[in-house]
Amino acid sequence: MSQCCSQNRPARKLECPINKHEYVQVAVKTLLHHLKEPWNYSLKDHGYYFCNATDCDVAYFSADGLIINKSELRTPLAAKEECEERMICYCFGISLADAKANPAIKNFVIQQTKLGNCACETSNPSGRCCLKDFPS
Ligand SMILES: [Zn+2]
Repeated sequence: MSQCCSQNRPARKLECPINKHEYVQVAVKTLLHHLKEPWNYSLKDHGYYFCNATDCDVAYFSADGLIINKSELRTPLAAKEECEERMICYCFGISLADAKANPAIKNFVIQQTKLGNCACETSNPSGRCCLKDFPS
């Protein structure tokens, strides 16, 4: 049997070419929603990763060497900032300061997530659920 299918499937995790840590794959749909000029990139169906390190300028990178810096995004990358005003929930527009001031907000997000009303895959530049970023 041919091995071609398994070889073409990109790894779930890949090292950021700059900071050398491993990051999880994100959907190309996520990139398209956050790039400033997505029409200027010839993106493939898959093989993109999100680097969330605060000290690394890379936002997305691909298995074949493409590096997209945070300055190329139209969405401010909260994952790269340390301030209290940074957005932690892009679906409902909640900053870290909001979440700290009102613990009930987290319950709201949990409830909406259960109801399937969040849009993390496209709203959040990480492509992932924001709940892990809430203060506990
Ligand atoms: Zn990086």
